[in-house]
Amino acid sequence: MRKQIIAGNWKMNTTYKEGLELLHTLKSNLEPITETEIVICPPFTHLDAAKNIVNNTEIKIGAQNCYEEESGAYTGEISCKMLQSIHCDYVIIGHSERRTYLRETNAQFNKKIKLAYAHNLIPIYCIGETLSERETNQTYTVLETQLREGLSEIALETNPIVIAYEPVWAIGTGKVATPDQAQDAHQFIRNTLKTLYSEAIAQTIQIQYGGSVKPENSTSLLNLPDIDGALIGGASLDPLAFTTIIKEALTLQRS
Ligand code: PEP
Repeated sequence: MRKQIIAGNWKMNTTYKEGLELLHTLKSNLEPITETEIVICPPFTHLDAAKNIVNNTEIKIGAQNCYEEESGAYTGEISCKMLQSIHCDYVIIGHSERRTYLRETNAQFNKKIKLAYAHNLIPIYCIGETLSERETNQTYTVLETQLREGLSEIALETNPIVIAYEPVWAIGTGKVATPDQAQDAHQFIRNTLKTLYSEAIAQTIQIQYGGSVKPENSTSLLNLPDIDGALIGGASLDPLAFTTIIKEALTLQRS
């Protein structure tokens, strides 16, 4: 059975001091929980200290991005090797904010995923359609292309991955996908993984939902057959909200 995986994407929020205080609070709330996987993705500046705070707990640390080259003259970028050197566990790749504002492409994400594996990081690969793509019935085509191109020449038989389905129109907007919309997209993603790989692989991959997840809507989403967790932005900065969502996931997992 797939475990629920809940990840918090802090984005470009919190100073160093604020971030570490938030993480200490989350650690004391979440440390006893071991059945649900928990990943915290703070800004780069906090990662090393964050990793030390959660040392000896089941809480994992993820970066929000990495660069698509191994090393070299890429001013301002962070490599997977650097993330590995501070024992980072996960890396978010393909977030829609990077697709939209930084114009990053599936080909770049493919290179990043390969480098993540070379440095022992688990990618959380984000995919999702924009509102206009949904309204013009292109959702499946977009998701299929993002999967096929982003995962090109990647052997999921030997490498772990988490897929995050994040409809762009639901990120940071307060507009959450309905359970039917979310389950339909997740089922499509799982079927596509089956076509690209195999039924056995498709059944083991955790697929998170992301987009305005809050304690008020998380149970109805996490309860769906093809949803295996959530990638959470805004609500991950509120320790009470984030803890509540994780406890709801835990209850569902136990039931
Ligand atoms: C995200 O940043 O991936 C996200 C889903 O944000 P929010 O929960 O704020 O919509």
